[in-house]
Amino acid sequence: MITVQHLVKRFGDLTVLKDVNAEIRRGEVVSIIGPSGCGKSTFLRCLNLLEQPTAGSITINGVDVMDPAADVALLRQKMNMVFQSFNLFSHLTVLENLTLGPIRLKGQTRDQAETRSMELLRLVGMAEKADSFPDELSGGQKQRVAIARCLAMEPEIILFDEPTSALDPTMVREVLSVIRRLARDGMTMAIVTHEMEFARDVSNRVFYMDEGVVYEEGPPEVIFTAPTREKTWAFINRVR
Ligand code: ATP
Ligand code: MG
Repeated sequence: MITVQHLVKRFGDLTVLKDVNAEIRRGEVVSIIGPSGCGKSTFLRCLNLLEQPTAGSITINGVDVMDPAADVALLRQKMNMVFQSFNLFSHLTVLENLTLGPIRLKGQTRDQAETRSMELLRLVGMAEKADSFPDELSGGQKQRVAIARCLAMEPEIILFDEPTSALDPTMVREVLSVIRRLARDGMTMAIVTHEMEFARDVSNRVFYMDEGVVYEEGPPEVIFTAPTREKTWAFINRVR
């Protein structure tokens, strides 16, 4: 579904991604782990062009996303992202946060958008907060709203960048359980996370990033217990 070949990203003299090659298949959940600063966020941001890749190619369903003629807004709908910091619109209610994109970008009527948005808020357990403003919610609640807002755009794949790292431990679980539910429903997802236990049980494959590349990848049983390369092993030992 997504194929990344020889992806390079430089910031000035700093080469963050040297040669990233990766594939994410439909219905697959991929966790991306690795030391701080290794380029995990940069990689996700390159996928939906929040960062402009320096070189290489990214295709989604065979379509080259770096083609200057590509529709970036449409790409970001298909490959929608959930951030560590939620990024909700603070001046809009929870419901309005969900309906804005479908009305403006997908041409839905307000009625259609509200009906679907209420279904999604129920899915993440936030329907009773539809008329609240983001400031009135806990971190875990904000993140569940952010996930529902992402789903309202009917993405084919969701990119999560550390969706729980800004949350208190008690709220981590409620957000992870929403993501687990999406995984069960067959949503394609790429998740940057420091929650190793979660990565281990939700993902089909794990990418360990280091040295500007996907240094090692494999099923979680292998990456977390018997990785074949030295740096992966050192990292896994450090974090568990
Ligand atoms: P963490 O686990 O701490 O979130 P990460 O693996 O997500 O780390 P990135 O945020 O992708 O790491 O950053 C990789 C490197 O790129 C870092 O050295 C960072 O300082 C640098 N970097 C990221 N964004 C920019 C930018 N816009 N301009 C310059 N350097 C940047
Ligand atoms: Mg990061």
